[in-house]
Amino acid sequence: MKHLTPQIIKGKRVLMRVDFNVDVDEKGKVIDDFRIQRTLPTIRFLKEESAEKIILISHLGQPEKNDFWTEKFTLKPIADYLEKILKEKIYFCSLKDFKETKATIDKSEKGAIWLLENIRYHEGENTNDKNLAQQLFQLGDIYINEAFSVSHREAASLCAITEFLPSYPGLLFQEEIEHLNKIIKNSEPPTVMILGGAKMTDKIPVIEKFFNLANFILIGGAIANTILKSWNFEIGNSLFEEEMIEKAKNLGSDKAELILPGDFLVLTKKQQKNKRELGKIEKEDTILDIGPVAASTFQRIISQARTIFWNGPMGKIEDQRFQEGTKEILEAIIQNKEAKTVIGGGDTLKSFKIPNSKFQIPNSVFLSTGGGAMLKYLAGENLPALRALENSKL
Ligand code: ADP
Ligand code: MG
Repeated sequence: MKHLTPQIIKGKRVLMRVDFNVDVDEKGKVIDDFRIQRTLPTIRFLKEESAEKIILISHLGQPEKNDFWTEKFTLKPIADYLEKILKEKIYFCSLKDFKETKATIDKSEKGAIWLLENIRYHEGENTNDKNLAQQLFQLGDIYINEAFSVSHREAASLCAITEFLPSYPGLLFQEEIEHLNKIIKNSEPPTVMILGGAKMTDKIPVIEKFFNLANFILIGGAIANTILKSWNFEIGNSLFEEEMIEKAKNLGSDKAELILPGDFLVLTKKQQKNKRELGKIEKEDTILDIGPVAASTFQRIISQARTIFWNGPMGKIEDQRFQEGTKEILEAIIQNKEAKTVIGGGDTLKSFKIPNSKFQIPNSVFLSTGGGAMLKYLAGENLPALRALENSKL
């Protein structure tokens, strides 16, 4: 893969794909800015190395067709936020009409920083449409992918665009890949993989690959629900994914121990929080966290690990009543200073904000912006956007 150097940037219109898909509340306030913060050094680098223009592309959420060009998924609040933390003027542009967008950007001063409207307002983004990439390419001289966290998606601003512009990984993208390579190469057993969260279609298929990488695979979150359901356990009204049942059913290997929770915190029919053991879950219960026994089993295994990978909260951490399991996992990870650790995923990193947690992140812990992308990379799967960068001929 090519490296980004000052010579490449000087005097160029740089089109950079970032992942500013962060949580924004109803009032447009940015709640969680980890991914934005991590791209600031690259934006500053482009500015310092005299890029002619810096044009940032991002998505936000998953807008449906009837949301296109409405305020619902607009990146405008992110532009305002970026301006505040970067302390540089950020111009915002709709991107509905490419000719207009180009003309507007052309007129701006040298070194101007632009954030374009949600790229997913163009249908061609998610279909990796060449026409969209071709329109985007008119805006820049070079392309940078600084969105490692969405690099497992085949999208026009991540893949097709690399056919039209000289393409480079961003500084953070490079760092993420190098760090993951290093930890894979030097990983010492026991290796513990902790998986939770909700994006099952991304995560369940990679579990089987981890049997070769890890000694213990600890599963929580809605992923555990799907696996338990596939094994015919009652999970009540809990979140699971029907499509993944067949895949989940066959999980298991003698190469690593797959460990699922045997107790849970549920919300009962009467909306009360209750502990429940596996096998005693009622039809009207909703599993929203792992139980105390599972948490301490997980903690014990984590405390003996030498390599730890974690993606996905153990429960519904947005609800204060169901943060405990995740908090205990995080505590065990942080306390294990012997292990080399990678924690990644947009929601997973929010665990650090759980109230009453005092965490000092040790140097042995690497925080990755990627959840699904990190897992797929670790599993040795192809990341379409990484492959696109490597194959870019320009
Ligand atoms: P990440 O962004 O870190 O990759 P995901 O997006 O896959 O993680 O999953 C995070 C989401 O999973 C959170 O919104 C959390 O509420 C949800 N979640 C975890 N466990 C459960 C559960 N048992 N029931 C419902 N939602 C859950
Ligand atoms: Mg998430």
